[in-house]
Amino acid sequence: MGFIIFGTKESTIGMDEFLIRCPACDKHSWADVMVISKYFHIYYIPIFPYAKEVNIICQECGLKRYNMPFEERLFSDFREVKRRFKHPWYTYFFAGFVLFVVLIKLLFSAIG
Ligand SMILES: [Zn+2]
Repeated sequence: MGFIIFGTKESTIGMDEFLIRCPACDKHSWADVMVISKYFHIYYIPIFPYAKEVNIICQECGLKRYNMPFEERLFSDFREVKRRFKHPWYTYFFAGFVLFVVLIKLLFSAIG
């Protein structure tokens, strides 16, 4: 068999403005935040997502922070932010497909 194309990719989930603590301003400033979904792929077919990252650009001083972990301490209302920025459905494509096949097999073995 040939070589397998396998690796990680990323896809933008969305963007919004949040009040985020800026290390340069040394206070909470409004920032443009881009939330990114990181996922594994095989032959460019998404398998499943494994992480979210954020790019933060401070609107006050322009400080850019890329590929920051998507963490609770960044946001004042993390739960709400988490709910709004979900991994796109297609990043679960391969895992979902495998699960579907397994379920179908189980179903058929149950019927007889
Ligand atoms: Zn700043």
